[in-house]
Amino acid sequence: MNPFSQLGIRHDVVNAISALGFEKPTPIQEQAIPALLTGSSDFVGLAQTGTGKTAAFGLPLLELLDFSQNTPQALVLCPTRELCLQITNDLKNFSKNLDNVHVVAVYGGANISDQLRQIRRGVQIVVATPGRMLDIIGRKAIDFSGVRYVVLDEADEMLNMGFQEDINDILSTTPDEKKTWLFSATMPAEVRRIAKNYMTDPFELTVGTKNTGNANIDHEYYIVRPRDKYAAFKRIVDFNPEIFGIVFCRTKIETQEIAEALIKDGYNADSLHGDLSQQQRDKVMKRYRERSLQLLIATDVAARGIDVNNVTHVINFSLPDEIENYTHRSGRTARAGKTGVSISLVTSKELGKIRQIERVIGKQFVKAEIPNGFDVCEKQLFALVHKVKAVEVNDDQIGQYLPRIMDEFSDFSKEDVIKHFASLEFNRFLDYYENAPDLNVSAATDSRSEKGGKADRFGRTGYKSDFTRLFINLGSVDDFTRGDMLGYICNNAQISGKSIGKIDLKGVYTFFEVENDVVDKIMSGFQRADFNGRSVRVELAGDRDAGPSRSGSSRSGRSSRSSGRGGRDRERDSGNGGGFRDFSGKRRERKGERKKW
Ligand code: AMP
Repeated sequence: MNPFSQLGIRHDVVNAISALGFEKPTPIQEQAIPALLTGSSDFVGLAQTGTGKTAAFGLPLLELLDFSQNTPQALVLCPTRELCLQITNDLKNFSKNLDNVHVVAVYGGANISDQLRQIRRGVQIVVATPGRMLDIIGRKAIDFSGVRYVVLDEADEMLNMGFQEDINDILSTTPDEKKTWLFSATMPAEVRRIAKNYMTDPFELTVGTKNTGNANIDHEYYIVRPRDKYAAFKRIVDFNPEIFGIVFCRTKIETQEIAEALIKDGYNADSLHGDLSQQQRDKVMKRYRERSLQLLIATDVAARGIDVNNVTHVINFSLPDEIENYTHRSGRTARAGKTGVSISLVTSKELGKIRQIERVIGKQFVKAEIPNGFDVCEKQLFALVHKVKAVEVNDDQIGQYLPRIMDEFSDFSKEDVIKHFASLEFNRFLDYYENAPDLNVSAATDSRSEKGGKADRFGRTGYKSDFTRLFINLGSVDDFTRGDMLGYICNNAQISGKSIGKIDLKGVYTFFEVENDVVDKIMSGFQRADFNGRSVRVELAGDRDAGPSRSGSSRSGRSSRSSGRGGRDRERDSGNGGGFRDFSGKRRERKGERKKW
């Protein structure tokens, strides 16, 4: 008997999931499905991403709901649009042999009328992100009085993103007798408190060790000087020619800048962050899923819930603000039983954070050495050799040219031919890495070297200390030249042009330096500024966000494309919305918490 049938899943659903390759239940499915099928208790499941959570709650829902009724009976809330679409898609796949099952995905950034139309036609399962759900409830376009099950997926992340109030409001429209099933990758006190106070005697399940990351992930850290971070990162990428990675940054600006610098340097990379339109995000994700992108540079929020298999590396270009987010990030690799590496680039000052993460994930990091130029060249050379060996030869096509090719090489020995082919690609790396410095630092040299003068992550130095660097969300695509920008800033802030230093005009944003004592004037001058109907934002760029991309040795031959959008500010999850522990050990409190979920 099929093991899913043994758990109580009906034949038609078992057939559908068998077609998806589900042969036997994952540990969380094995334990959660029988408990949830009773339909009689609340549930708390502590499980990492990629453990099969969706089927753990999705399959019981398909058994428990009455699909002869076209009214909402289950509500699944999750933090991001990507996850919302993924869950919806999974539920549709699981139920594809059942009649009259209607699942709707409700999420922001997409046309609301389509979603309203689907709701009007009748649905039993609503999968939603909190903001859009609340919007639809506000329009009185949905009736949740018949909801029997609410699933809170990735509850820690929803709290982290500041969705608690929205969730309270949404849940207040559902009946008191409903059952609540909560899933969370981590169990900070806030989630624990919800389970304790607002659920009745929940059935609790922990898969794997509490707070422990996936055992198939190796955690490595590299100590780098801030100024060498980008160079070290590129070296690590070059040392892993087959890398298929997600690179995490802390801010949208950093994300955009790193992606732009990589593209300029010939890497196959693109960015994913909240300033991109939905369409742009979909496009980037499609390219990444199809593997026509090798490196996805993302913020925590944008990368939430991304379920892409075979990600080889997660790279923490910057460590996350909250320790819990490290688990989410590293969980993007080593999915479905595969192995993966989670790499962190840290300064010696951040070593304490690594130790804190080690305590939380219950696993030790390995200190790795940044490869030297010679190591990278050797690695690339053999990757090339393997590629040449593995390439598919189309005898029919190439055959007609062979006599001429052989003729061209008639004076070459076999060894010469091989040498020339290998050098064709290899010389680029040799050129780039000739005289490449050692980027490794000991803790002692790191702190000494930074005292001499600050450099940004691209190694750029020389900012005047009596100047402050600011960011404005207007740039060359808004038809500004540097001169226009100077005039525009002076006009709005009522200051003299002499107070303005360097202006770094980018596509959709600009960095500019101003004398420290006019910063306030500029901030107030732009407070309610508007440009062609768009609100203008000026922010402190700060060292972290400083620096345009340094033009490195351009390695042509790899495809690249810029998303052409500028970053503005921090994504919602790295702001102050959450109530989680930060690295200072302090707990950040949220304002205006409501009593009840
Ligand atoms: P989830 O944690 O629900 O995002 O699932 C992670 C991945 O594992 C998804 O790609 C699922 O399709 C897959 N998966 C879930 N359950 C099983 C199973 N029992 N057997 C094989 N693959 C599964």
